[in-house]
Amino acid sequence: MKSKFWIIGLALLLILSSSCTAIKNAVGMGDKDDDNTLLLLSAAYVLTRSTNPCTNSAYSSGTAVTTSTLSLSSGCVTGATSSMDSNLPTWIKNNFKCSVGYVQSTYYCFKSKNLLNARSPYYKASTGLNGGSGTPNPNFIANQNLLYAIPMTPAKNNSTLSGTQNGLASIGIAVNGLAIFNNAANPPDTLSTEASTFDQQQGHPEMTGSYHHHSQLINGDGTGGTPASVNLTTQGSSALIGIALDGYAIYGRWCGDATSGQNTQATGLDACHGHITTTPEFSTATYHYHYGGGASGTTCNGSGVGTGAGNDATAGIPTIMGSYFYGVIGQVSN
Ligand SMILES: [Zn+2]
Ligand SMILES: [Zn+2]
Repeated sequence: MKSKFWIIGLALLLILSSSCTAIKNAVGMGDKDDDNTLLLLSAAYVLTRSTNPCTNSAYSSGTAVTTSTLSLSSGCVTGATSSMDSNLPTWIKNNFKCSVGYVQSTYYCFKSKNLLNARSPYYKASTGLNGGSGTPNPNFIANQNLLYAIPMTPAKNNSTLSGTQNGLASIGIAVNGLAIFNNAANPPDTLSTEASTFDQQQGHPEMTGSYHHHSQLINGDGTGGTPASVNLTTQGSSALIGIALDGYAIYGRWCGDATSGQNTQATGLDACHGHITTTPEFSTATYHYHYGGGASGTTCNGSGVGTGAGNDATAGIPTIMGSYFYGVIGQVSN
């Protein structure tokens, strides 16, 4: 009992200190280390949550690999397991990698070491994967133990919407196994100022080394190449980006038609960044998100929240998600 209070007290202390720029600078974290408050809040949040329903020791996301010389195998970092169970739906099996996917209870589960599948200035030289372009923040990529429990049957949230900035360790998992983060930056920065620290895959790590995307993925195949299936640099990409914590799919700016195969600009997006249509992955019209934001003046999920411009007002750049989830969210722990 006593030790539990110590842990909670420590978490509170960390939260308080995370808001103090002077303390951060004193320990050499600098201003651009991104999302400190988010992560520390999430640490406290995890303490209050019930056991993640995807906890299952039969599935391992691999061994810790940041201290050895790394290489890329099958588009993922050697040592980090990449496997998708056969009972997952085709759209997940065919698109997701660099994580371990399985079904448990009513959830799609993903375990991820959250290791970028490409060279980056955010890998320490000792890993053998340091390289690529980008102006780094002071952080380096480190193993995580992200565990996502994502509802198999997504459902519109008809109650109070869950905010994407409510202290979650991640708000979704990308097709490359990496975390999707919300639109918050390390105060007083906005994402538009932190965008200068994105590497050539359009991501960066926060202070615990958790690499993440706020914006579109680039070179997500891990080869440094830009195949159409994953390159989202063009306006016309309708590629699948990932799955949000509420179970709805996330795509690039454009929307692919299920029958014609034609990509068109996504229309009628709400402030959650989504709309209900068919896509190549869903032959029945289904809600899904699009990178880049909803239409100005819309609300999210008809709830009245999220009214405003297409981009999340706190971000300043086009982002993967808005300020709220459309659906009922699952759980994530790290
Ligand atoms: Zn960030
Ligand atoms: Zn669409």
